[in-house]
Amino acid sequence: SVPVICIDGPTASGKGTLAGELAKRLGYHYLDSGALYRLTAFAARQQNFELDAAHEALIADMARKLPVRFESGNIWLAGQDVTEAIRTEAAGMDASRVSALPGVRQALLDLQRSFARLPGLVADGRDMGTVIFPQAPLKVYLTADAAQRAERRHKQLISKGIEVKISTLRADLEARDEQDKSRSAAPLKPAQDALLLDNSSLTIEASVNQVFDWWQA
Ligand code: C5P
Repeated sequence: SVPVICIDGPTASGKGTLAGELAKRLGYHYLDSGALYRLTAFAARQQNFELDAAHEALIADMARKLPVRFESGNIWLAGQDVTEAIRTEAAGMDASRVSALPGVRQALLDLQRSFARLPGLVADGRDMGTVIFPQAPLKVYLTADAAQRAERRHKQLISKGIEVKISTLRADLEARDEQDKSRSAAPLKPAQDALLLDNSSLTIEASVNQVFDWWQA
């Protein structure tokens, strides 16, 4: 069977960076599951659908047929390069809204599982360990305190020339986490057998090394 490493945790805890680096080091595939929810919300917005339960079946149908292509770091939806467009805070909040709809989560199940291919997969998200790959031999729940997460996100945005107040970012990410934790469909929480990693005061390299060591153990 295909080895899968799950990296779950709250918003901006560094999951994507850690999972991407780890996948590179191991030569494994990488699944950014959050991107699928962001893409679904983006596609729904393009159709002018409200992101609510009344449109659940329509949005789920879009999710099931997402014309997505992942290509050397870029993400294409139909013919459009949406790499940057789906990364905004608003797109994250939209993703959180559609991800609370059980029909949408169901619609993305097969697509997510299809990423598990040899030689292996590193998958990051909110429910990789609890729902999508419950048999995975290594599950990590990655956290960092809210101040740290807001500061890192702030740095990222500044480097792209985007000005936002740290306090606004922090409020946004805490609101999104609250929404992700309190929903009834696959709420954000550590899998029972997850190893907890708080990377508040760790470098990226130290975090990667830690998970790499757990994997080798
Ligand atoms: O990880 P990212 O910030 O891109 O995820 C965007 C949103 O998608 C999250 O806030 C969460 O609501 C949702 N999501 C999810 N399950 C996943 C990945 C993301 O519900 N596996």
